[in-house]
Amino acid sequence: MPNFLLSIIIPVFNEESNVDPLLKRLLPVLKNYRYEIIFINDGSRDKTAFFVKERSKTNKNIKMVSFVRNFGHQQALSAGYRLSKGDCVISLDADLQDPPEIINQMVDKWQKGVKIVYAKREKRDVDSFFKKHTARCFYKLINFLSDTPIPEDVGDFRLLDREVVDFINSLNEQSRFLRGLVAWSGFPAEYVSFSREKRLTGETHYPLSKMLNLALEGIMSFSVKPLRIASYLGFLSSFIGFLGIIYAVIGKVFLPRYWVTGWSALFVGIMFIGGIQLLTIGIIGEYLGKIYKEVQKRPPFLIKEKINL
Ligand code: UDP
Ligand code: MG
Repeated sequence: MPNFLLSIIIPVFNEESNVDPLLKRLLPVLKNYRYEIIFINDGSRDKTAFFVKERSKTNKNIKMVSFVRNFGHQQALSAGYRLSKGDCVISLDADLQDPPEIINQMVDKWQKGVKIVYAKREKRDVDSFFKKHTARCFYKLINFLSDTPIPEDVGDFRLLDREVVDFINSLNEQSRFLRGLVAWSGFPAEYVSFSREKRLTGETHYPLSKMLNLALEGIMSFSVKPLRIASYLGFLSSFIGFLGIIYAVIGKVFLPRYWVTGWSALFVGIMFIGGIQLLTIGIIGEYLGKIYKEVQKRPPFLIKEKINL
C-alpha cells in the first residue's frame, strides 16, 4: 500500500440513480490506495444524500458535505478542494461520463512528479453536434481574449497535486472558473486521454443558459480585453462619423445639385452608434457587476451537514 492519500471529490446534484453505479466502478480502482471520497451534495432535492449516507456507514472513507441549497458545480468543486486532505486530489463527475478506470494512469503520472494531470477528451462522439461546436467556439474565443491559455477538450476531470490545491484554496476571489484558475497557476501539466461516455442516467445540469453563464464567467474572470474592444468600437464609430462629416461637407459644397437631403444616412448612423453604445455599456456593466459581487464578500457556499469529515 503506497503511503500517500488520494482524495476523490465528486460534486453531486440530483444524482440519486448514479451514486451506486459510480461507487461500484470507482471502489475497485481505489483498492490499492489509501483514499477518501468526498461527495459534495450541491443542494440535491432527491435521495442522493440518503444513498451516500448509506454507503458511508459501512465505509468511513466515503464522506459527504451537504450545502444548504444549490450553489453550482464550480462552488461545489471549490468546497471539495477545501475539505480534501489528500496528497493529490482528483475531481470527477458523478454521472460516469468520466471513467474512473483511468485514475491509475493519472496517479502514475503524478508519482513521476507532474503537478497537474488533465483527463483529455479524445472523442466527443457522445456529445451533440451543438455541444461540440459551441465548446470549440468557446475555447477559441477565450484563448483569443485571455492571456492565460486554457487547454481545449479538458473539463473538470483532473488530478491536482497538494501544492496546486493549496494554491487554489489560497485565492480569495469569489467567482471561480476553476479550469482557468488551474491553468493560470502555471504548474506544468500532462494529459491522459479518454473517450467521454454518455451520461449514465438523468439529464445534464448544464443547459444552454448555464453553459453561456460559465462561458461568460470564464471570459470575464480571465480577460479585460472586452473593455479594450469596447474602446476600439468607440474609436471605429467616431471615425466612421468623421468620414460622414467630410462626405457631407464635400457633397453639400461641391455637388449641391446632386445632394439629396435624406434621413436614411441619419437613421443608419443613429442605429450604428446607438448599438455600439449599448454594447459597450453592457460590457462595462458586466465588469461592474463582477466587482460588486467581489466586494460583497459573501461566503461562496453554506454547509448544512458533514458526514465522516
Ligand atoms: N453538478 C453540481 N451542481 C450543479 C450542476 C451540476 O454539483 O449545479 C454536478 C453534477 O451532479 C455532475 C457534475 O456536476 O456530477 C457535472 O454536471 P453535468 O453532468 O450535469 O454536466 P455535463 O457533464 O453535462 O457538462
Ligand atoms: Mg455530465
